[in-house]
Amino acid sequence: MIVFSHGLKTKIGWLCLASLGGVFSTTIFAQEVTTEQVTESIYVIKGNGGNIGVFIGDDGTFMIDDKFSPMSDNIMKALKSVGADAPKYLLNTHFHGDHTGGNENFGNGGATIVAHYNVHQRLADGSSIPAFAMETPPAPDTALPAITFDSEIVFNINGERVRIFHVPSAHTDGDAMIHFEGSNVIHTGDVFFNGFYPFIDIPNGGSVQGVIDAANLALALANADTKIIPGHGPMASKPQLLEYRDMLVTVEERLSKLKADGKMADQAIDELPLMDLEEKWGNGIFNGDKWIGLIYDGI
Ligand SMILES: [Zn+2]
Repeated sequence: MIVFSHGLKTKIGWLCLASLGGVFSTTIFAQEVTTEQVTESIYVIKGNGGNIGVFIGDDGTFMIDDKFSPMSDNIMKALKSVGADAPKYLLNTHFHGDHTGGNENFGNGGATIVAHYNVHQRLADGSSIPAFAMETPPAPDTALPAITFDSEIVFNINGERVRIFHVPSAHTDGDAMIHFEGSNVIHTGDVFFNGFYPFIDIPNGGSVQGVIDAANLALALANADTKIIPGHGPMASKPQLLEYRDMLVTVEERLSKLKADGKMADQAIDELPLMDLEEKWGNGIFNGDKWIGLIYDGI
């Protein structure tokens, strides 16, 4: 039996993505999660925090990300409801707390945690995210990835090849993308926010061009039937990822030009460079003004 601790040692401020309304939550409670079937053996667990991917089979449960710590019990219930055991392997797509918050609980529950080398580093050292005035102390040993990789790691599990590869300087400096080759499913991590301007963590090594490059890599792997699990937002297929990539390319071009003209972020915002994009992309976490302020240094 696995007993999950619920000790919220620190009150953490984080994106409350439940409503996608740009709400900042100061305390994360044990919110409900919902489960959606993607293929015969792959599920997505939704709810507050990043989208969890679950791959079930005879070799054990392979899980991608784990939301916030107080949600571990509900995640465990969701796993049981689809016939999955506690995760044998837990892959972190990056270090952010809405994707790694449950590491200690699932680590104590027996999961072997796997992540890019930089994720281990940031979890072990503690981290800060200036955009949300967030400080996270060093994580305990049981919450740290036992296995790290640099450019790529492959799992041969549950009858298929699961390729996990690093996409450099994208949402952060430690992003992993996961390709279930047999199932034709991609989990993008936070390089893809489906339907709204993405958070890009520039001070922690992210860049707009890196996110574009990562999206291009995913597009190259995808075909018309590929099911794409984004880091945040609803399930997607290739056309939505294409639209998102095109939006980012447009933004990068426009902001690069303003930057080349010597404009500071505030002056760039005054030019209203994203006006025509706002209705479609600006109703998620950030409106265009806020978003430009966050990403301008990463252009
Ligand atoms: Zn993130």
